[in-house]
Amino acid sequence: MSEKYDVIVIGAGPAGYVAAIRAAQLGLKTACIDAFTGKDGKPALGGTCLNVGCIPSKALLDSSRQFWNIAHNLPVHGISVGDAKVDMGTFIGRKDKIVKQFTGGIGQLFKANKVTPFFGTGKLLKGNSVEITGTDGKKETISATNVILASGSVPIELPFAKFDGKAIVDNAGALDFTEVPKRLGVIGAGVIGLELGSVWRRMGSEVTIIEALPDFLSVADADIAKVAAREFAKQGLDIKLDAKLNKAEVKKDGVHLVYTNKDGEQKLVVDKLLVAVGRRAYTQNLLADDTGVKLDERGRILVDEHCHTGVDGVWAIGDAVRGPMLAHKGSEEGVAVAEWIAGKAGHVNYDTIPFVIYTEPEVAWAGKTEKELKDAGVPYKVGSFPFAAIGRAVAMNEAIGQVKMIAHAETDRILGVHMVGPGVSELIAECVVAMEFKGSSEDLARIVHAHPTLSEAVHEAALSVDKRAIHKGN
Ligand code: FAD
Ligand code: NAD
Repeated sequence: MSEKYDVIVIGAGPAGYVAAIRAAQLGLKTACIDAFTGKDGKPALGGTCLNVGCIPSKALLDSSRQFWNIAHNLPVHGISVGDAKVDMGTFIGRKDKIVKQFTGGIGQLFKANKVTPFFGTGKLLKGNSVEITGTDGKKETISATNVILASGSVPIELPFAKFDGKAIVDNAGALDFTEVPKRLGVIGAGVIGLELGSVWRRMGSEVTIIEALPDFLSVADADIAKVAAREFAKQGLDIKLDAKLNKAEVKKDGVHLVYTNKDGEQKLVVDKLLVAVGRRAYTQNLLADDTGVKLDERGRILVDEHCHTGVDGVWAIGDAVRGPMLAHKGSEEGVAVAEWIAGKAGHVNYDTIPFVIYTEPEVAWAGKTEKELKDAGVPYKVGSFPFAAIGRAVAMNEAIGQVKMIAHAETDRILGVHMVGPGVSELIAECVVAMEFKGSSEDLARIVHAHPTLSEAVHEAALSVDKRAIHKGN
């Protein structure tokens, strides 16, 4: 007889491990299976996010920011420290230590919450049992009343620029360069391209980013994308828009790229090439043929608005299903599904999920862009406020960017907030709370904000919706 659980979660990324912990908190007997192995070849919980995504990229963004500031920002403060040098072992080692701390932490959380971990590949069989193939090839089968699929995503590979882990790399490779590449090519000016491109630019690489679309950062509000593009160009990120990569050939002296833009065929040689053209749901070896779980046209596990697959007791969450590929989106789905299984009222509001790009300046938004509202024919009004007029931002020497707030023209309900500037990854949270409570721009305008803080930009943008900002002309 196989061991029987209330809940089995396949995948211990931020969607799966959070679902497992919440299910166990609710008194459900829970197991979580994960196949990820860390740099040391040992099982490592936490999925893409903790091992090769959110956490390591933010560690390197912070280290590289310190390095960049020595030459580019400290002199303004009258501080000079001579030529800065970097020890790559320490630079990458610090990141690895942080990753280990957090992946190990998930194991401790599982122990504390009595979640049973299994290391290996889980395959859903008909009737909600799961076959686990351990790292040693041994198989065992466990079963449950409910199975949550949280198998995540993997990088999309371009057929003419295949990953070799050395010269042509994905996110994991670009987080582990042993030396600063003199010339770094990046395919895709999306979130990964901009964040990891920034890391290596700050460390001294010449960075060229090739982006297929004609508009820069077309997912963001156009006013915000414009400011970001200008600032990234100032930092030396060479972003080539409307450019199509035709070939990437690894030779002795580097990766030879051939791409086409409006001026015709172009050539470029780089030492390393990061391909970051998006990710795809990962479902390889996850489902036996007769489970009844369906995939959509993009290979994602098909689910309804409650993350249910339509097969009794089988749910799916995170990057493996529709919606933005963000850690916090997956985690909230994990909590909601655990609560639905336990008969409680789970809830995910997909309309207020914050998006953040951790570049310098940071970019953050929640809700609708101005273009989306215009296209939908929704009447709206806009307020904005520049960080140049915020005392704290000027004192920090980071007075770049703005907060733009969009509210319904008649009801004043906040429909979207878009920011580029210092610390906006934190400022967006206030706007998400306001939007979640169906707040109006007047609500934020009437709330006392501490002076001098960056949050005054949110306050002034809210005032500006009603043309009554104090520290700028309206
Ligand atoms: P994953 O994290 O991909 O985890 C899935 C897990 O399931 C993996 O461990 C995988 O090995 C395992 N698995 C798959 N199939 C099986 C199987 N059959 N059996 C057992 N185990 C299996 N998001 C943010 O919100 N903020 C950020 O700052 C951010 N930065 C990022 C930076 C980078 C470089 C990258 C690549 C991504 C970043 N993301 C960020 C996205 C974020 O990492 C993902 O949205 C998130 O990890 C998705 O969580 P998940 O649990 O759905 O999947
Ligand atoms: P992305 O979708 O953000 O960007 C991919 C970019 O590549 C797009 O601009 C696209 O137009 C371009 N592109 C696609 N095919 C191309 C081609 N053949 N040639 C040139 N350009 C091409 O994807 P990503 O940057 O790979 O990131 C993957 C996912 O990880 C994203 O969905 C994102 O949500 C998540 N992520 C989030 C964060 C964060 O929240 N800060 C950070 C990193 C990654």
